[in-house]
Amino acid sequence: MSDESLFYPPKMGKIMLLGMEEIMGGNGVGALLELPLLGNSVPHPLSASSNHAFSFETISSLQSALELIYGPHGGRGMALRIGRACFKYGLKEYGSLLGLTEMTFRLLSLPVKFHIGAKAFADLFNKHTDQRVRVEEREDEILWHIERCPLCWERKAEEPVCHLAVGLLQESLSWLSGGKIFDVKETACIARGDAACTIAIDRTPLS
Ligand SMILES: [Zn+2]
Repeated sequence: MSDESLFYPPKMGKIMLLGMEEIMGGNGVGALLELPLLGNSVPHPLSASSNHAFSFETISSLQSALELIYGPHGGRGMALRIGRACFKYGLKEYGSLLGLTEMTFRLLSLPVKFHIGAKAFADLFNKHTDQRVRVEEREDEILWHIERCPLCWERKAEEPVCHLAVGLLQESLSWLSGGKIFDVKETACIARGDAACTIAIDRTPLS
C-alpha cells in the first residue's frame, strides 16, 4: 500500500462490516469478501478486522461487490439497507463523542438538531477519516457534499452510486426526528463526473 492511500480507521470499517453482516448475514459477507474484486483486502471474520484500516479502494470495491452479487438494482437496495443498519453501530461507537446522545441535545428543536447534528456528523468524517464532507444549509434543504468519497472511489458510473451514504443519512434523520421519514437523494456523484457526491435532504418530513 502506498503512503498516498486514503483510509477509514478500523472502527469505522468495522461499523460498515457490522451493517453488512446484519443485512446479508455472516455467510453472505463471507462470500462477498471472497470475490476476486476484493483481493483478500478485508480480513474475515469480523473479529479479525478490529485493527484493520479500510482503504478507499477497499470501501469502493465493497460497493461494487454488492452490485455484482445482487445486480445493479438489488445492490442499490442492499447498500441503502446496510447504510441504515450502520447508523446504530455508529451511534454506539461515536454518539457520546459527538454529544448527540446527551439529554440537552435530545431536547432541542428539530431545526437546531439538524444544524448541530449535520455539523457534528461532518466533523466526525473530516477529523477521523480521509473522507471530506461539507455541509451546505439552504432554506428548504440541507446539502451534504462529500468532496472526497470512499464509496465511489475510482469508479465510473452513469448514475450516482453512493447509496450507503444515503441510507446512513436517512437513518440519522429518522433518529434525530424521533422516527420521521425524509426525502434523501444523491443528486451528484464523483463517479459520474460531478465535482462532489451531493446528497440532498429535504427539511420537511414526508411523514
Ligand atoms: Zn461518492
